[in-house]
Amino acid sequence: MTTTTGLPAVSLPPYFAYHGQHLLVEGVPLQRLAREHGTPLFVYSKAAMLSALTAYQRGLAGRKHLICYAMKANSSLAILQTLVRAGCGLDIVSGGELERAMAAGAEPSRVIFSGVGKTRTEMRQALKLGIGCFNVESRAELDVLDAVAREMGLRAPVSVRVNPNVDAQTHPYISTGLKGNKFGIAHEDVLDTYRHAAGCAGLRVVGIDCHIGSQITQAAPYLDAMDRVLDLVESIEAAGIAIEHIDFGGGLGIDYQGDAPPQADQLWKQLLAKLDARGFGNRTIMIEPGRSLVGNAGACVTEVLYRKPGEHKNFLIVDAAMNDLPRPALYEAFHRIVPLVQADGDAPSTTWDVVGPVCESGDWIGRDRALAVQAGDLLAVLSAGAYCMSMASNYNTRGRAAEVLVDGDKAWLIRSRESAADQFRLERPLPAV
Ligand SMILES: *Cc1c(COP(=O)(O)O)cnc(C)c1O
Repeated sequence: MTTTTGLPAVSLPPYFAYHGQHLLVEGVPLQRLAREHGTPLFVYSKAAMLSALTAYQRGLAGRKHLICYAMKANSSLAILQTLVRAGCGLDIVSGGELERAMAAGAEPSRVIFSGVGKTRTEMRQALKLGIGCFNVESRAELDVLDAVAREMGLRAPVSVRVNPNVDAQTHPYISTGLKGNKFGIAHEDVLDTYRHAAGCAGLRVVGIDCHIGSQITQAAPYLDAMDRVLDLVESIEAAGIAIEHIDFGGGLGIDYQGDAPPQADQLWKQLLAKLDARGFGNRTIMIEPGRSLVGNAGACVTEVLYRKPGEHKNFLIVDAAMNDLPRPALYEAFHRIVPLVQADGDAPSTTWDVVGPVCESGDWIGRDRALAVQAGDLLAVLSAGAYCMSMASNYNTRGRAAEVLVDGDKAWLIRSRESAADQFRLERPLPAV
């Protein structure tokens, strides 16, 4: 994508494109949606989500498999419905997510429950529904789950999340698959944990799982983790405990800023070659992708409120903030920011820090961005489909944004803008004096 404005060319995610000067999502101009629904506004492309899913489905075609969308990336009901109707199971991390999964029409047996801190109440709730698998992260959790299931006269299907300790020297960007973080059971303790689980009357061992991190942009760490997990499957099965499914987690990255992660089908071509070579090609494969299914399918549309040029920095104050787009404040993450209507040929551009109205210096959305914009102009913060709306808060009593799902030339409002009354509905004022 090249621009004629003299501004740096910005590449756009699939299904986002300029037609003339106007930025469209599939067939719908974003400006029209912003006028209709106001800003800040999250807009998602259904085709972008489905094409991301199709890449995984293509990669795993002909194999026994289940793709469980890690719904913490974006748990809005219509997003879940879109992926569930296209064949996804779900990976949940709380009882609340389980209720959302059910509300979206997911089949409980196609839902798996991850996370280090499941409560007894959440375990009961999931067992009662007939959840597909608990991905257990500690010996203590295993024992509690065993007790809860026995009280209910049930056997809980379990998988142990193993920490493959993928070498930090070679893959320093991986954050959850290394010794020294809270996730998973250490490699050397895994066999004992399986022996213990196999002896519990309230448990039924069904699988093994790992998840080594997020925004991973290379195949090597996945290949390393697969080897480590398969080594464990061999020793567990040698001890007489059958492993039905192998779950390789999520974590595949997306292009935020010129990142070039492998395509899901290409990655799985390599992984399946290893699986076949090691004789595990006929196992049920499970995966838990989150970001890579929804991240590049969404944008957040925001209006420029004020230009505030300064001696050291120029600030562009917009109506979206860290409560809508928490990733820059949390991880210093980068989102591309582009105008909804491209400026004319030689409009002068200025370098701006794009910031929100929240009373925190951490409330920034993009730094040092060349933009030719005036107050009242609209901008799109790209690659905002994952870990934005699902992490949104009400800080500063800001209502959460509205959301729209685009399908071809149609657009559906999938979440209304949250009002102040919505926010204090559960609060109880003191009696009158
Ligand atoms: C967050 C998470 C995922 C999804 O990670 P992405 O980077 O969004 O693909 C998958 N599995 C587990 C256990 C997770 O915690």
